[in-house]
Amino acid sequence: MKKQFQAESKRLLDLMINSIYTHKEIFLRELISNASDALDKLYYKALTDKSVNFDKSQCYIRITADKANRLLTIADTGIGMTAAEMEENLGTIAHSGSWLFKKENELKDGYDIIGQFGVGFYSAFMVADTVTVISRAYGSDQAYRWESQGADGYTIEPCTKDTVGTEVILKIKPNTEDENYDEFLEEYRLRAIVKKYSDFIRYPIRMNVSGRRLKEGSDNEYEEYSEEQTINSMVPIWRKNKNELTEEDYLNFYSEKHYGFDKPVKYIHFSVDGAVSYTAILYIPERIPFDYYTREYEKGLELYSSGVLIMNKCPDLLPDYFSFVKGLVDSEDLSLNISREMLQHDRQLKLIAKNLKNKIKNELLDLLKHDREKYERFYKSFGRQLKFGVYSDFGSNKEMLQDLLLFYSSKEKKLVTLDEYVSRMKEGQKYIYYAAGDSVEHLEKLPQAELLIDKGYEILYLTEDVDEFALKMMTAYKEKEFKSVSGNDLGIEELENKEQSAPDASDQAILNKMKEILGDKVAEVRISKRLKSHPVCLTNKGEISIEMEKVLKAMPNGEHIKADKVLEINGNHEIFKALKEAVEKDPAKFTLFTNLLYNQALLIEGLPVDDPVAFTNDICKVMVAS
Ligand code: ADP
Repeated sequence: MKKQFQAESKRLLDLMINSIYTHKEIFLRELISNASDALDKLYYKALTDKSVNFDKSQCYIRITADKANRLLTIADTGIGMTAAEMEENLGTIAHSGSWLFKKENELKDGYDIIGQFGVGFYSAFMVADTVTVISRAYGSDQAYRWESQGADGYTIEPCTKDTVGTEVILKIKPNTEDENYDEFLEEYRLRAIVKKYSDFIRYPIRMNVSGRRLKEGSDNEYEEYSEEQTINSMVPIWRKNKNELTEEDYLNFYSEKHYGFDKPVKYIHFSVDGAVSYTAILYIPERIPFDYYTREYEKGLELYSSGVLIMNKCPDLLPDYFSFVKGLVDSEDLSLNISREMLQHDRQLKLIAKNLKNKIKNELLDLLKHDREKYERFYKSFGRQLKFGVYSDFGSNKEMLQDLLLFYSSKEKKLVTLDEYVSRMKEGQKYIYYAAGDSVEHLEKLPQAELLIDKGYEILYLTEDVDEFALKMMTAYKEKEFKSVSGNDLGIEELENKEQSAPDASDQAILNKMKEILGDKVAEVRISKRLKSHPVCLTNKGEISIEMEKVLKAMPNGEHIKADKVLEINGNHEIFKALKEAVEKDPAKFTLFTNLLYNQALLIEGLPVDDPVAFTNDICKVMVAS
């Protein structure tokens, strides 16, 4: 009986079948990688359960090409699958659904999907029109045959197989006008693909190889030969000498492992001998994985104990703020039998994690120092995570992370470090100034910052919601406190000395009246010390800034948290004269102006006006009067 694929699987299959993806050859990498995983599982079982009867010399992957029948077989002696596992694993997609986020047109040629998710088993359909999987699970006598011609479904039937393991048999597609599929039946081509992507697989990949060679003991007599050989070197990449490895090897390993499909900005390969010995390869990706900022994303490094994989993603090796790091750790000091729960408390593992954390930080600092452009590409993707890191855990990691942060500078018109800011602070400048808002363009027009910039102060523009929270958590950098340009007091004497700093009694009366009209909407109305050409702005008194109020508003339970807003009026502005005139002669006009000014200040801050209808009516009144 034919069974239907899950809806998403069917869509993905259609894509694979019709793929014009140029790297179809990766199907082999995917199938070999599955075979290797299946061998790992059996090997691991044997190592942790003495009752498992196991012979390492019988662990291998075999590739067979039958040109006459156009069949390519990838066989392994791994753990195999039961009928239920076949159903579960081959009838549905592991990452089901996640790729559905992508728009149809982005998926057109399948490039994106292969690029983003690594579709594993299904990639076989890029080169084959029928795929047959024959498998016998460890511990079972019964084998099953799974077969599919693609999108119209699959069958599962019992069959016979002498040994435990899996065979994946591909009926290679006929050549078309622009596609040559024959190559996937050619020995030399298959061998080259294995070398390119799967050389480091730790089990022998065997294939029949034929050719001509010098007869033994002779220097001019040749013989034809055809024999099975192991075509991969089998040495895991991290056990190799760094000098023998090229950048391409590291990058191939990165994609072979599905760590990501970008080109990492940095890879680090190192060994440590000490209280605990280990070897690690770490990658710093350039681009955000599609699910990075979701709950689904799992951080972690692969963990090996003397070359045997014990965990796919060991989360305890990475702090959250470095959760983007990919790679592996191999240590001979870890026990193979350790359970996940135990591992968490393992002293050795904690040591490794601490070590890695510092290593990653130093490598990032190094990148920042020596390849700023690359670092900025990295920062564009993961800077947010670093800032979350500063903010979370009550700021306990701020020392660790503060030198990795970048913010946009009003002066330099580019991202700068805090150290760069501090090193060029004006003489007598006590604080690090910042302005928070939704974009640099907006912030450049911020009235509150006008005078500061005019006086030559540098301002950091914070445009991500987490930014201000992170700085608040840090409170200071190199003993220089952070100060918002919208905060109560800017701490600048040259601004303090301005003559209008102390309002006279009649000015104060005006301010009091305005406060009366606005009521609880503002905490205070005052003459501004920071405005130059603009009539009004909003600043805040307490710890909660207006930007923070906006961010908190968007969070559950955050609606009631409000900034203490201060309406600042430019005492040198024409509008202040108009207010002075109106206060005596025309109280209605005074109220009208006060409300309008308050609403303008809200709009400049990017806040909604409280009552848009009343606001537009007020504007109309002014228009009619003029
Ligand atoms: P992934 O490898 O990313 O999980 P695949 O689509 O490649 O996704 O494979 C789905 C699942 O099918 C695997 O996780 C594994 O459980 C099973 N599988 C695939 N190939 C084999 C094999 N050769 N031996 C045993 N199980 C396999």
